[in-house]
Formats: sequence, C-alpha cells, structure tokens
Amino acid sequence: MKEIELLPLPLLEWYHENARVLPWRSDPTPYHVWVSEIMLQQTRVAAVLGYYARFLEALPTVADLAQCPEDKLMKVWQGLGYYSRARNLQKAARQIMERHGGEFPTNYDDIRALAGVGDYTAGAIASIALGQAVPAVDGNALRVAARLTNDRRDVTRPETKAALTAALREAMPVHAAGEFNQALMDLGATVCLPKVAPLCGKCPAQNFCAARKADCAGELPVKAPKRARRVEERIVWLIFHEKKVALRQRPKTGLLAGLWEYPNELAGEAPIPPVSGEAVFAAAGKHIFTHIEWHMKAYTVAAEGEELPPGWVWADKGELRERYSVPSAFQAFSHIVGENL
Ligand code: SF4
Repeated sequence: MKEIELLPLPLLEWYHENARVLPWRSDPTPYHVWVSEIMLQQTRVAAVLGYYARFLEALPTVADLAQCPEDKLMKVWQGLGYYSRARNLQKAARQIMERHGGEFPTNYDDIRALAGVGDYTAGAIASIALGQAVPAVDGNALRVAARLTNDRRDVTRPETKAALTAALREAMPVHAAGEFNQALMDLGATVCLPKVAPLCGKCPAQNFCAARKADCAGELPVKAPKRARRVEERIVWLIFHEKKVALRQRPKTGLLAGLWEYPNELAGEAPIPPVSGEAVFAAAGKHIFTHIEWHMKAYTVAAEGEELPPGWVWADKGELRERYSVPSAFQAFSHIVGENL
C-alpha cells in the first residue's frame, strides 16, 4: 500500500499546523488519555469536553476512581449515555489497583487486558501517553486508510481492518507514533469527512490519494449495511406525590443497568398506572440506543397515597439532582418532572 507509506511526512507537517486543541492533549498521562478515549466512544468531542473536566475534578486519579461509590460515579457520568463505559472504567481502575499496585500499566498487553479496553484504546494510550509505536485505528483512521488506498473491501470485516492496521503499523514513524495516530484521527475528523464530504483540497495526501485520483472518495469506506434496530413502544409513568416523583432501579445487568428510571413498560403489557390515581397523557418521546429504539408515551399520575411497589422510591428535586441518576433516554420528560417538583 504505497499511498500509506507516503503518508507520514506530509501528515505530520499538516498536524503541526492543524492539530485540534483538546484538553487531554495538554497533559497526556495514561489516565487522561484513557478517560478521554472511553468518553469519546460513541460521543462527539464537543459533548465530551465538559464531562472530561468534571470527571477529572471529581476523580483525579486511578485510586479515586477505584474507590468511588457507584451512585457518585453514575452522577458524574449522567447524560453521557452508554453507562457500561463508566462501570468498565471503574472495573479497570480496580484491576490497576490489584494487578499493578495502582500504577497505570505500561505494557501494551497489560493495558489491552483492562476491562473495556479494546485494540484502539490500548493503542491510543500506549502511543499517545507512552510513546510506543503501536497503531490506534478508529473509524476515522480506517476511513482515511481505505480512501488513500482505494480499498473496496468491507471495513467492518476484521480481515480488512487487520490489513489496513498492518499497513499503518509499517508506515508509522517509530519516534512520533502518538503524533501520527492523533494526526490520522484529526485528518479523519476534520478533512477526510464521512459520506460524500471529504475536503480533499485541504488534505496533505491529496497528491497521492488513490480515491481522490479515481474521484470515488464519497463511496468509501465500504461498509456492510447495519442490522435494523428493534422498535419498542413503551408507556412511561410520571407518578407524583407531594412534590416527589416515583423512581425504580433498573436490573443490575442489561440496558441502562442499575440506573434509576421513571417506571415504564411495553405498551401492550399492562397499560394501567401501577399506583392508584388518574393518568393523563403528557408527552411523547423517542430515544435511540445501538440496537433498540424506544418510542415512549408518558402519562402523569397524581398518586392518591404514598404507597409504592417494593423497591421503588420517592425522589424530591434535590435527590433527583444529587442522588439518583436518571438516564438521558428520559430527557424528553424532564421538563414535566421539573414542573411537578
Ligand atoms: Fe480523504 Fe480526500 Fe485526503 Fe484522500 S485526498 S485522504 S479522500 S481528504
């Protein structure tokens, strides 16, 4: 893949002029790079910035993260979504305490063995924070590599990813591996944009990019179509009593594990309020998870008494803010809850 061999020099020159200024880049310790990379999974950079600062303020070290009570951790993460990421962060922090005496591991295989850390994240930590010559191939890097080489294989297949990763590993400058990986991510995020919009005129690879030559960048990378999401129609009960709202904790495993929610159920199952009181339709909302889509109809219920099913709690405004983490899947109804507390 001669185009990838030609890439490092022009790419690094471009990066020195155009690197994005990001808070985790100013002090790239393994802990900082790790936390930022986990937050950036499935989440845009702009959305991560505020969370990253708050997270480090609340939990500045691996030891703090390892010891953090679950409620507090969920509170710090609240709104970022994909909560299993936060649980895995804590699990990995505990592994670092147990296996490595609290010191972040410096060996690639030890980093890769931590909970929630895949090839990309391990590569990012090892190259950016520790200067090791290992690739960190995310969706951005994969798109750039596929276009540069006009590779028409399906990039969702492990063989394709492995071949492009191997080519990048070969080409990577040993003494600037972290910069090379970050430059590739930045090029994908700001110039070699997805779909039909690459800004080839601004690209340091424009003179030798095979997709640009063939005028087919918009068709790459080739990806197998995704499985359709399952749609669930759900009824959400916003149950109020004396300026409190009813919450219930989700099961410890599965979707939104362990978080607190407004009681809800599949629309066909038992669409009568779970406590006595009049139900009034309030609003509709939608939330998209990776494999499921919730189409929700929320009803307010003014509960006649204090009694709740076992395991449910009443939460006032302060408790909702400080103690219970309600996932953003229910955000469409937060104004209704706010008006009733
Ligand atoms: Fe992407 Fe265009 Fe650069 Fe090729 S020339 S790597 S398609 S931005």
